[in-house]
Amino acid sequence: MAYMEPAPLKKENPFESMMSRFNVAADLLGLDEDTYNVLKTPTRQIIVALPVTMDNGRIHVFEGYRVIHSTILGPSKGGIRYDLDVNIDEVKALAAWMTWKCAVVDLPYGGAKGGIICDPKTMSRGELERLTRAYTLSLNDVFGQDKDIPAPDMGTGPQEMAWLMDEYSKSQGMTVNAVVTGKPLVLGGSLGRVEATGRGVMISAFGAMEKLKMIPSKTSAAVQGFGNVGSNAARLLYERGIHVKAISDISGAYWNDKGLDIPAMLEYAAKNNRSLEGFPGAEKISNEELITAKVDLLVPAAKEDVITSENAGKIQARLIVEGANGPTSSKADAIINDKGIMVVPDILANAGGVTVSYFEWVQNRLGYKWTLDRVNRRSDRIMKEAFDRVFAAATQHKVAMRIGAYVVAIDKVAQTYKFRGGF
Ligand code: NAD
Repeated sequence: MAYMEPAPLKKENPFESMMSRFNVAADLLGLDEDTYNVLKTPTRQIIVALPVTMDNGRIHVFEGYRVIHSTILGPSKGGIRYDLDVNIDEVKALAAWMTWKCAVVDLPYGGAKGGIICDPKTMSRGELERLTRAYTLSLNDVFGQDKDIPAPDMGTGPQEMAWLMDEYSKSQGMTVNAVVTGKPLVLGGSLGRVEATGRGVMISAFGAMEKLKMIPSKTSAAVQGFGNVGSNAARLLYERGIHVKAISDISGAYWNDKGLDIPAMLEYAAKNNRSLEGFPGAEKISNEELITAKVDLLVPAAKEDVITSENAGKIQARLIVEGANGPTSSKADAIINDKGIMVVPDILANAGGVTVSYFEWVQNRLGYKWTLDRVNRRSDRIMKEAFDRVFAAATQHKVAMRIGAYVVAIDKVAQTYKFRGGF
């Protein structure tokens, strides 16, 4: 597959890494300079100070962000991250990624992301609740079911979304559950949301395996990460006959050449504080060894920047399906491509999560609940159609799937912008 090298970067930060791929796709599309400037620039960047009374009686002022990258396709959508490393560059990159991700799977949403600099693991439930309510109130004029719809990300989950929905609803004088997705089921969450991202990873993997003529019963896989995305992807691949030989989590990586017993691992992790530490029936290897292990399919589903220019040359898999956001540094793209490895990129492969978030929002607005079967059938169809669109664009432009995905996304947003127009 031919590949256009992204422009060299002085220092790689997440926003530049996203932009280097954006630039290649914009060139291929022949995007005019004016539209290019509109699409690359975040619409709004908000920084808020959040004074919160801590359990010891002192007031701590937290810094929070919300970046709305684009509302061209519709209300903006994107998660909220609680982490000590949150910074505006990262939030800007993640917001732009959301714009492209929603466009790739053809959802009527723009992209956004939020974050608060904090260490949720060291905070009490009460502190987390006050922080979440403070953040919601200070962004009260930004959020809205037709304006900007948050969701969970690293460090946040259904409980934070429930507090957000409650605080926002109080300010409106009525319950507005469609203002946020990823809520607990009892508050209007959707069936199938928990496994949605892993399920989309599985659908993407099968789409790619079909193109590469890989037979499931003769395919081996390694999955990095055994959290929400990794554990569901591993289970669904296993249930469809793939030999998952390696799995890792923060405690290390586990290898079994005959194939791991995934149901046993799920049961073990459930009883062991979600950790695989001490799992019997597997040989322990390092996380680095998992990336370069002798398998056909590699699913990075833990964190960003794990496939780098250092280890990309040693990867033995024929197919990489990116469950995590940004697991491959832009510098590793060319190496992977030269080796002829197919990569189903993050903005396509992990879009099953935002797709079912969209279904949650639709159900809330309808005041109705879909069955699990309906959710799965519709999300599988959306993922498969998106895969086919990206594959066709990559083939047409003779580029890797990653650039193909950006081409599909940018083309859709650019065309919509041309119809809507500016000032
Ligand atoms: P999670 O917190 O549920 O799980 C993360 C897993 O990665 C855990 O098993 C953890 O032990 C493991 N891990 C952490 N550091 C590791 C390391 N250095 N080596 C190996 N394993 C390590 O998170 P998640 O929700 O599964 O998200 C994983 C990735 O997928 C993130 O990049 C996230 O942004 C992305 N993602 C998640 C969703 C979703 O719906 N949850 C949707 C789209 C993208």
